[in-house]
Amino acid sequence: MKYISLNYDSAPTSFRNAVINGLAPDKGLYFPEKEICLSNKLLESLYEIEEIELCYEVIKDFIGDEIPKNRLIDIIANTISFEIPVKEIENSIYSLELFHGPTLAFKDVGAKFMALCLDYFKDNNSSKKMTVLVATSGDTGGAVANGFLGTKDIDVCILYPKGKISEVQEKQITTNGSFVQAIEVEGDFDLCQSMVKNAFNDYNINKKVSLTSANSINVARWLPQMFYYFLASKRIENNYPNIFSVPSGNFGNICAGILAKSIGLSIEHFVASTNINDTIPRYIKEGIYEPLKTKSTISNAMDVSEPSNFIRIQKIFNNDLQKIRKNISGYSFDDKSTMDCIRKLNQENNYIADPHTAIGYLGLKKYLKENNLSNCNGIFVSTAHPIKFKDTVENSINSQIEYPDSIRSIMNKEKSTLTMKSYSELKEYLIQKD
Ligand SMILES: *Cc1c(COP(=O)(O)O)cnc(C)c1O
Repeated sequence: MKYISLNYDSAPTSFRNAVINGLAPDKGLYFPEKEICLSNKLLESLYEIEEIELCYEVIKDFIGDEIPKNRLIDIIANTISFEIPVKEIENSIYSLELFHGPTLAFKDVGAKFMALCLDYFKDNNSSKKMTVLVATSGDTGGAVANGFLGTKDIDVCILYPKGKISEVQEKQITTNGSFVQAIEVEGDFDLCQSMVKNAFNDYNINKKVSLTSANSINVARWLPQMFYYFLASKRIENNYPNIFSVPSGNFGNICAGILAKSIGLSIEHFVASTNINDTIPRYIKEGIYEPLKTKSTISNAMDVSEPSNFIRIQKIFNNDLQKIRKNISGYSFDDKSTMDCIRKLNQENNYIADPHTAIGYLGLKKYLKENNLSNCNGIFVSTAHPIKFKDTVENSINSQIEYPDSIRSIMNKEKSTLTMKSYSELKEYLIQKD
């Protein structure tokens, strides 16, 4: 499979180059050149086929012959090596729990898949060391750091907004030993992201280090997220239409769901659920794309006002707003509604949701109510374990929640990080780091 740039000013390139480069030379996001269409035979055998084989069939045409079948199956097996349960918490309302991976965030899947692809593709003869450079608004950092544990000769450098991520998230980023450098940035996520973008475009840095991105723009992080939607559909064994509500920030996860639908998976509708950083819900409603300044919220992994993956969604729908509206609804919720929802889910459903997940639930319920829908499966995507947002969750439900064992051990480790204010500091660091 070749990948084109959505700025349409770079030549199509291989999956390998798309993974290593992250962004195309013209700064566009990569997008598969050809449309993929899964066979009816495969789609009809969803309930019978084994999970890893299903995921292999879903992704294989996006990679072509660039990774041998056995290796790709190995990569997939390592990527979905934890449980992904679907829990019915109310009649026909399901929680798709994607947070049972190593860092308790759904981003574990994309991060692990990408790390293993890069490990396969890296050039062992190059004089330039490969460095993964990534900005995180919370969960990406830990997932990426963990994804690369065990891949040799690849450095990881993670930028996060100081004071704007949770304690657990910070520990997951800053306690991984010497090959993962955490950088605390005095600013918001958008500043982190723009520093990373500048580095990728900086000739003097690229002369010395082989930089690669691990943000959700990377095709190797984006594509395997299709697995969630196939696995969920496989697990809910009835013939009612599926409606997915996805808590969205950079819109990578929901975009993978939309891609899953475009290659053949039966999905009735998507709900893009956001916090008050509501650029896309406003766009869907009013037809005007107008990002505002990013605001901090308790669902901080979604504090994004210019979602980088939205351009891919527009591409899938040929920039047709009517088609977008037919397939996606958007709703936004403030912190108070989010906390009320966490409380209600705990009281009435005996279910503890993190703030992002609560927003997914709220969006789903609002969509079902506005459209008076029944006889369908409403699935809200649970993107983080509640412990990652311990304080907010405890304040909402008015009681304590327990650390899982995997977290307790890192909470005692010492944080190690650099602090930066501006791009020039990052540049200096990258140029002289080896
Ligand atoms: C990253 C993240 C999101 C948003 O996912 P996108 O793919 O960026 O839309 C939602 N919830 C949590 C917990 C996250 O970490």
